[in-house]
Amino acid sequence: MPLPDLRDLSRAALEAWCAEAGEPRYRAVQILTWAHRKQAASFDAMSDLSRRLRERLAASFSLAPLAPTVVATAADGTRKLLFHLPEPVESVLIPQTERAGGARDRLTLCISSQAGCGMGCTFCATARLGLLRNLRPAEIVGQVAAGQRLAAPAQLTNVVLMGMGEPLANYEAVRTACEIMTAEWGLAISPRRITVSTVGLAPEIPRFIAETRVNLAVSLHATTDEHRARLVPVNRRYPLKELMAACRAVPLPRRKRITFEYVMLAGENDADADARRLVRLLHGLPAKVNLIPFNPFPGAVHRPSPRAQVLRFQALLREHGLNATIRESRGQDIQAACGQLAAARPAA
Ligand code: SAH
Repeated sequence: MPLPDLRDLSRAALEAWCAEAGEPRYRAVQILTWAHRKQAASFDAMSDLSRRLRERLAASFSLAPLAPTVVATAADGTRKLLFHLPEPVESVLIPQTERAGGARDRLTLCISSQAGCGMGCTFCATARLGLLRNLRPAEIVGQVAAGQRLAAPAQLTNVVLMGMGEPLANYEAVRTACEIMTAEWGLAISPRRITVSTVGLAPEIPRFIAETRVNLAVSLHATTDEHRARLVPVNRRYPLKELMAACRAVPLPRRKRITFEYVMLAGENDADADARRLVRLLHGLPAKVNLIPFNPFPGAVHRPSPRAQVLRFQALLREHGLNATIRESRGQDIQAACGQLAAARPAA
């Protein structure tokens, strides 16, 4: 049996281990600070712990960092990291320049929560893999640590769980990963700079946001149950009525909004009537809409909406007072754009 990874533990779990080991409770934060904040490479490096404790830790846990094995760089500067866990898992590092040298420049890391995905959305390359397995917390936060190492000396500004997998189908691990990402002893990233994107597992949504305080994005993609079930099979389990009720139940601080993602598929969900139904569906919700031009992949059955229709759709939403943005496609030439993560072949 391999030892459990220290970086899989929540603070509460390590406090319980400390109590068992006869160590004071505060030791847990001290150890976690070494593991996450200081990215210690070994237990031996944890120099302010007694030798006895370091030996006990080494006998109980492993502490292996995650190393991406392939890094590809796109023409637009987007970089893709491939991890062999040993299942292939990908992260994408996306530099976004607001204005030349502007203070609002962002460096966003898009990470995966599962190897493969079991949700079966028809327009997503990851769905073709099926669910291989849930990632552990260490494998989720390890992507962030690896992304930060690659980005240095620049700092990651945002983390989005929009890579492979459905985060809320791996609830406990993603919750613990959010705890580690946001804790002072952890990666110390503000929850305002973290976004979890869900296909719409309605029962988990309000609880998850209450427990983590991160931002929520919901993959909507269609405005009637019939349309949505065709694209997003999980809609049969959690239809729009239930999904919208869950969104309304999300505890949001003032001025915070839920992002609704909407992939633009030609002739499928991009008609003017869809835009009008979307306005009605989101009425009264603190919502913003992020329109995602469809990123094709080998074997895809959908086609991207023409640019003119994406712009027209956005204009219709805006006319009705909805905040609507278009997500510019990044890293397409290295298969790093939304929905293209399938780790099918080593990128150039
Ligand atoms: N499972 C989660 C997060 C992963 S997908 C979710 O469903 O939200 C992140 C976003 O990319 C989702 O909105 C998803 O619908 C979108 N997406 C998937 N495939 C895409 C493609 N081929 N082109 C554009 N966006 C895509």
